[in-house]
Amino acid sequence: MQKKILALKELTQNLWWSWDTEAKQIFEELSPLLWQRNNHNPVALLQHISEKELIARCQCEFGEKIDRVYSRFIAYLNDKNTWAANNAPELVEKPVAYFSAEFGIHESVRIYSGGLGVLAGDHLKSASDLGINFIGVTLFYKEGYFRQYLNHDGWQMEDYPLQSPEALPIEKVVDADGNDVIISVNIAQSEVFAQAWCLNVGRTKLYLLDTNIPANEPHYRDICCRVYGGDQNMRINQEILLGIGGVKLIAKLGVEPTVYHMNEGHSAFLTLELLAMNLAKGLSSEEAMANVRSHCVFTTHTPVPAGHDRFSRDMMRYTFDKYLASIGMDFEHLMQLGSENKQDIYSLFTMTVLALNLSRSANGVSKLHGEVSRSMWQHLYPGKSVDEVPIGHITNGVHASSWTCGYTGRFWQKHGTTVDAMSLSREAAEAVLEKISDAELWSLRYSLKRTMIDYIDRYLGNQLFHQHMHTSYSDYDTLRAAKNTLSPDVLTIGFARRFATYKRAPLIFRDLARLDRIINNSTMPLQIVFAGKAHPHDDAGKDYIRQIVHFSRYPQFSGKVIFLENYNLGVAKRMVSGVDVWLNTPVRPMEASGTSGEKTVLHGGLNFSVLDGWWPEAYNGDNGFAIGNGEWFENHEEQDSFDAEQLYTVLEKQIIPAFYERNEMNLPVQWIQKIRNAIATIAPEYNTHRMVRDYATKYYMNK
Ligand SMILES: *Cc1c(COP(=O)(O)O)cnc(C)c1O
Repeated sequence: MQKKILALKELTQNLWWSWDTEAKQIFEELSPLLWQRNNHNPVALLQHISEKELIARCQCEFGEKIDRVYSRFIAYLNDKNTWAANNAPELVEKPVAYFSAEFGIHESVRIYSGGLGVLAGDHLKSASDLGINFIGVTLFYKEGYFRQYLNHDGWQMEDYPLQSPEALPIEKVVDADGNDVIISVNIAQSEVFAQAWCLNVGRTKLYLLDTNIPANEPHYRDICCRVYGGDQNMRINQEILLGIGGVKLIAKLGVEPTVYHMNEGHSAFLTLELLAMNLAKGLSSEEAMANVRSHCVFTTHTPVPAGHDRFSRDMMRYTFDKYLASIGMDFEHLMQLGSENKQDIYSLFTMTVLALNLSRSANGVSKLHGEVSRSMWQHLYPGKSVDEVPIGHITNGVHASSWTCGYTGRFWQKHGTTVDAMSLSREAAEAVLEKISDAELWSLRYSLKRTMIDYIDRYLGNQLFHQHMHTSYSDYDTLRAAKNTLSPDVLTIGFARRFATYKRAPLIFRDLARLDRIINNSTMPLQIVFAGKAHPHDDAGKDYIRQIVHFSRYPQFSGKVIFLENYNLGVAKRMVSGVDVWLNTPVRPMEASGTSGEKTVLHGGLNFSVLDGWWPEAYNGDNGFAIGNGEWFENHEEQDSFDAEQLYTVLEKQIIPAFYERNEMNLPVQWIQKIRNAIATIAPEYNTHRMVRDYATKYYMNK
């Protein structure tokens, strides 16, 4: 019995469980209520369950289930016959070190803010599944990213609950004698110390640096407080810790990566520490630069110039003073490495420029974003045409098994397959789909929508409970109305992501009368579910949330337009599995890739999106819907009007008729055919197994 309990505890200590359907079921079965209350965190869950209860419950099938999952876990860890072993042995021998300011692995580990983090988490999981020797490096944020709730006016409020290391599956990194491993970095005139935590994600390890130790002055402890918290000064301090501190930690652990992968420019200071290490070995400046370049790989995610991290000359001088003295680097030389314009001595220091200068490869995250990046950075490569600018692309994907809800996972299992197997090739997906009837697919859609609607009902119950504490009775009534009116018979659109303004969440409300006619059509109605957080400093984004909350209270939309608080990985999974249509309305080409629409496909959801990011590559006319044809207007108003008009027209002329047209068996044959097309053409391409294999063969392996 003791053995089973130990196995159960061991399972909680590796986030592998988060992409194993049966493992998650074990934790939920222990106590569905505590599982939900503890944000699906099994470590916290077990802290509430006594040894006595565990012993009693492990006696019968429950114990057998633990044995089964545990053996699968051990077999996974020990599997030697992996993709990497067979195709990239050099990536088994030496690790790839992947640096990212955020990682979204599971909602219970709140060290992410949005898509960039989710991508990093999915990258880590696929590297593990493929057997690549891989470590991640990030910061431990004790308050994480905020928890969102809305006040009575629909204005976003932020709450920063502490996450305690004891309730997380992380372990302190210690040396052979059991002492904490401590590194330090120079910031301004101070030496800032950091301990480190380790989080196991399948076969990979994620290291989290943490300045919350007594040796530091309080303002340096705050470096590890919030994801993207604070001002520019905080930002540069976090980036120094991540880049320079991360390299020092890896060196101290005796790890020698074959590649350092910078996921976005935040970690680009790592190149400075690598330069310093090479200079200390006696290499000349040129040799050191060449050596660093030969080990670094950079992925950019930002298609607009203003989105890139930049620091002023004064801030750089102040912050790097002591560091530069310690490594013997000249300030002007540092500034040159990050300068966009070498003639302009007042030029800002741009993290992306540093990364581009010191990497052997650079890439954008979709075909379109690759093109945009090449023209955006052409001026750094005098004499090269746009096409010759050395920035390629690898289109983002999602980790299929993490993004499959339990019900869908079991559905594919019942049909003799797994989402990973379906994602291998179009042929593999088509072979499975052939054996599944329209009725079965339609029943899957209904079950998933019903599950989401029940979930929303409970979720709104909580939202209601605490909004009620500072709200008027009329709001209470609207939320109550919403709780009862969603129906699985109704075409359901989902929209959820960060509320950055370029994503234009309120676009569908541009013509209220037209939307009213669409939503309240007596035979072909529509309902829409929204969720998303705005960055705490982004008042324009918060205003978008407020607008949508206000619309949701209009009598004609009440109960048919819903806003769910506190978007996170858990809410995302419910939404992408439940909705019929996933809406995406960015201003082209500002969505570098976007990934949320890729998550909906294996659940039978269809994408309805502006031709931006990954969608122009994936859309073929029969596997989803497009808004416009890539038209571009100088004037924002014109762009919004045009795109909104397109949105309504496609909704009225294509989406709604296809969804509501039924055959004699009451099946929407045309719609189901689109679902089949979407699964066959999108799932095999837009997943992180394909993406990480591309990184491995294109950028990680030494040719
Ligand atoms: C997938 C995901 C994102 C990314 O969504 P985009 O539409 O690509 O911006 C952001 N946040 C969460 C919680 C997600 O799961």
